[in-house]
Amino acid sequence: MIKQSPLRRGPRDRRTRCSSPAAVAGRRSRRYGVTVLALTGGRGPTAPGRTVRAAGVTRRSWCGGSPAGRRRSADRRRWIGATGPRRVWQHARVRNPGIFVLAAGLLLTACTSSSGASQPAARPSSDAVVVTAGPVTAEPSSAVLPGATRPGSVPPVVGNGPRIGNRVALTFDADMTDTMLRRMAADPTLSFANRKVIDILERTGTPATFFLTGEWVEAYPDVTRRLAGNPAFELANHTYRHQAFKSPCYSLPPIAPAQMTEDVAHTFDVIAPYGGRQTRYFRFPGLCYDDAALRALAPLGVTVVQGDVVSGDPNATAAQPIVHAVLTGVRPGSIVVMHITEANARFTDEALQPILDGLRARGLRPVPLSDLFR
Ligand SMILES: [Zn+2]
Repeated sequence: MIKQSPLRRGPRDRRTRCSSPAAVAGRRSRRYGVTVLALTGGRGPTAPGRTVRAAGVTRRSWCGGSPAGRRRSADRRRWIGATGPRRVWQHARVRNPGIFVLAAGLLLTACTSSSGASQPAARPSSDAVVVTAGPVTAEPSSAVLPGATRPGSVPPVVGNGPRIGNRVALTFDADMTDTMLRRMAADPTLSFANRKVIDILERTGTPATFFLTGEWVEAYPDVTRRLAGNPAFELANHTYRHQAFKSPCYSLPPIAPAQMTEDVAHTFDVIAPYGGRQTRYFRFPGLCYDDAALRALAPLGVTVVQGDVVSGDPNATAAQPIVHAVLTGVRPGSIVVMHITEANARFTDEALQPILDGLRARGLRPVPLSDLFR
C-alpha cells in the first residue's frame, strides 16, 4: 500500500545548496509536484513511505558547492532546472524577490560552471514552479534509460507524476512466485498472463508500463516478446520471484537482505534481451520496502516507482470495484497499479475498458511512465 502522511504544516528547510548532483530532496508539491516518497543521496533514505510535503518544504538544489548557491527563499516557486531522464517538481519560497533574482543568477553560474549537469533557467511567471533535475547520472547520454539514476545513490521513490496537464500512467504488474509456478505445474490450464488485457491495450492504442518479475518472463517468453515489440509499452523490473523486501508483506515469503541486490540485478538481465522500451524503473512486491531495501538497490541506478492509485484487482471478485477504485482515485499525474496475472486477478480485463472510457471522459490521457515524468 502507498503510505502517505497527511498534509500538515511542519518545519521548513529552504536551503539552496550546490553540492553533489546525487542528492535530491523528497517532497510533495502542493499543487503540481511529483510525489517523491523518499529522500535520496547524501542524507540517506527516509523512513519507508514517508512523504515530505509542501507545507514543510524541503528544497535543495545540489549542483556545485558554491556559497553563492545558498540562499533562503520564500513565497515563490522557481524553475531550477530539468535535464536528464527524470525531473522532480518542487516548491521553493522566496522571502525577498530581489534577493531571489540575485541568488538565482549566482546559483545559475555556480551550477553551470561546477557540474555542467542541471541548467537552471528562470521562469517568467512569478508563480513559476521549481523543478530540479532528478538523481540522474552525472553525465546524461542518449544511452541512459528512463529511470536511470546514479549508481551508488539510494534511489528515489516516486508515487506520482506532475499534477498538471492530463497525463496518467497505467502500470501492470506481472507477478510470479515459486508457489504460482507450482500451481501452474499442477494445473496446465492455469494462466498468470492476462492476454485479454494486452488485447485491449493494443486494440485501443493505449500506452502502458509493465513491471515484470523474472520468473514471469521465463514462464511467458512469448507474451514478453509481444510486450517488448509494442512501442507503446515500457518494460520495468518487479524482482525475480516477487518476494517480500520488507516483512511482513501480505503472504509473500521474505528475501534475505544479502540477496536483494542480486535479485533485482538478475531480473534486469532476464528482461534486457527482449529489447523494446527498457527502463530502470523498479517496483517493490506488494509495494513493501524499508530503508535497508532501498539501500540494497543503490548500486543498481534505478528509480523506484510505486503508485498513487491501487486498483485492488488481485483480490477483486468483480470488475466494478476495480473500475470504481481507479476512477475515483485517478487525477493528473496518477500512476495506476494493476496486474496482468490472470488467475489471481481475474477481472482486470473486464475492468479495463470502462477504466479507459472513464479516463477519456475525464480528459485524462494514459502515457508510458517515462512520458509522465517528462
Ligand atoms: Zn506485484
